[in-house]
Amino acid sequence: MPLGSVDGMRAHSVFADMPTTIFETMSGLARTHQAINLGQGFPDSPGPESLRRIAAEALMTGSNQYAPSRGLPDLRQAVVEHYGRMQGVPLEVEGVLVTSGATEGLAAAILAFVSPGDEVIVFEPAYDAYRPLIERAGGTVRVVRLQAPVWRLSEPDVEAVIGPRTRVVLFNNPHNPTARAFDAAEVSALARLCVRHDLIAISDEVWEHVIFGGRRHRSLLAEPGMAGRTLKIGSAGKMFGMTGWKIGFVCGAPDLVDPVAKAHQFLTFATPPNLQTAVAVGLAWPDDSFRTMADDLQRSRDRLAAGLERHGFVLTTSEGTYFLGIDLAASGVAVGDDMFCRRAVAEFGVAAIPVSAFVTAPQDGAVVRLCFAKADDVLDLAIERLGRARGMSASTA
Ligand code: PMP
Ligand code: GLN
Repeated sequence: MPLGSVDGMRAHSVFADMPTTIFETMSGLARTHQAINLGQGFPDSPGPESLRRIAAEALMTGSNQYAPSRGLPDLRQAVVEHYGRMQGVPLEVEGVLVTSGATEGLAAAILAFVSPGDEVIVFEPAYDAYRPLIERAGGTVRVVRLQAPVWRLSEPDVEAVIGPRTRVVLFNNPHNPTARAFDAAEVSALARLCVRHDLIAISDEVWEHVIFGGRRHRSLLAEPGMAGRTLKIGSAGKMFGMTGWKIGFVCGAPDLVDPVAKAHQFLTFATPPNLQTAVAVGLAWPDDSFRTMADDLQRSRDRLAAGLERHGFVLTTSEGTYFLGIDLAASGVAVGDDMFCRRAVAEFGVAAIPVSAFVTAPQDGAVVRLCFAKADDVLDLAIERLGRARGMSASTA
């Protein structure tokens, strides 16, 4: 029986022919081999206790029935205030939709704005959810390739793929899996292109608070001309380091958010009220709290980076997200990223993610993504194991 076939009925090819995601695959291998999991991106800390207590209390004393489909009023108001204060993004409550994680927000935005035959620009390496969602909506992906190790966004490269059917650009900043935080010039250049070619931007900004070196995130929505054409997507799971919470936000002009909210009605309708109550409280925290969380992650990044560099690994720049990259060729490791990751988890006890899983046409210059949102002793053990993996992979390749 061919993959995806059920009683002679074939499932949609986008999903029928798709392998399990690299995140699920590597986390499964990490479990099988009892390896340290630096693959799928999640912290190993429990998350802010005060927010967990508010969520627990709301579970016991608050409503456990359907929340309003677009989100609890307190949370929608908190999102407006949070982005206004921290990013200068002017929103109104009608322009905020609460979704079941950024993932559902992305799906709803794509369902609402991508029609069969539309072209959608995606920057590769690209977060793995984008392509299948676009293709299932009937759209075609137009790839702009970012080049390691700098991963710079080039205006001419983007302009070159824009054609008469291009309707949407799916941007991600800070960028997973490269860990690039695109700078003001790159963000402005993209905004100018969107205005010039009348494109809608779906701007995946889930890593907006995980940005290093004291930099502030620059939202595409705040750029000139972008307010009426940008859907900004956020994730409380990333903001507060509790990835299991799956509370996302889709923000923008009310008439843009409205069709996304219609799609959301029939994807999940609403999200758990107790988590929304806690997220509303967290969003009102002072700016410094978010800076402190980013600084802690930056220390973890630096610890992992320094340890790997001691073992001779050459790294790509990590400006944001939970991730850094090993440039295998520059590190003298003569195997591809996929092979390196398979051997690292099975033989050396560290799970990582091959960045080639996020591109349609792998090129030279393989990069391995590692998650550093872990306790110091976990990182130290991983460094020691990866140090051994480096020698072994190079010599046996
Ligand atoms: N977009 C990007 C770029 C991500 O890295 C992730 C998860 N790490 C998501 C979306 C999904 O976010 P959520 O868990 O809120 O669905
Ligand atoms: N976004 C997470 C990462 O990049 C994974 C989320 C998932 O497994 N879907 O590691």
